[in-house]
Amino acid sequence: MKKLDQVYEGKAKKVFKTDDANLLIVDYKDDATAFNGVKKGTIIGKGAINNRMTNHFMRLLEQAGVPTHYVEELTDRETLVKNVKIIPLEVIVRNIAAGSFSKRFGVKEGTVFRKPTLEFSYKNDELGDPMINDSQIYAIDLAKPSELALIREYALRINEFLKSTLFECGITLVDFKLEFGKTSDGVIILADEISPDTCRFWDAKTGEKLDKDRFRQDLGNVEGAYQEMSRRIFGK
Ligand code: UDP
Repeated sequence: MKKLDQVYEGKAKKVFKTDDANLLIVDYKDDATAFNGVKKGTIIGKGAINNRMTNHFMRLLEQAGVPTHYVEELTDRETLVKNVKIIPLEVIVRNIAAGSFSKRFGVKEGTVFRKPTLEFSYKNDELGDPMINDSQIYAIDLAKPSELALIREYALRINEFLKSTLFECGITLVDFKLEFGKTSDGVIILADEISPDTCRFWDAKTGEKLDKDRFRQDLGNVEGAYQEMSRRIFGK
């Protein structure tokens, strides 16, 4: 598989064309941003950890019946994925209050929900990724009702799966963000990443934060948290 021109550079990943129009190569960077790009930094080793962790979860999710964009891990930072049109929605699932939920609704961080919550943001940096509801999603044609129903079902299934997998590693899954894409045949599949950049992971015993909140909130030992998550999942 030949790595051709770069098609896109995001905050944490670069995307390249290949000699197959249906496949792309994602290249994970160590760059970190927060607060819509206002805070910038580097988390050494992050790219390799996020690549490996995302691929691990995507392979398991495929086996559990959730279609994903994952094709093949090429190097410690590069992965071959299916070329999809990203649906510009951030699909956020929460089990415990934190981050923008706590802020918006005045709910203490750590409050455990009786049932997971699901919310959507319109992926648009210029607008600051505003929250969006179902009828607004239909109004601006981001997805059809049947597509949104499928996305919702996948998101909740992914939550149950990740929650139990991580519980066995001594990790509490607080919340996370997913992105879905559409293949050229119109099939909706999971895309983007599942990593400490896009999830909140807390140590199940101590409550210690083992995710990007260490960077966002200047808690220190950011690299250590990513490495610890890697150890919990892969051992050593
Ligand atoms: N998240 C993300 N990208 C975003 C916004 C949120 O990956 O642009 C993730 C974030 O890491 C957390 C979850 O989605 O695991 C919920 O984030 P929240 O809405 O609380 O926003 P934040 O506090 O990160 O601004």
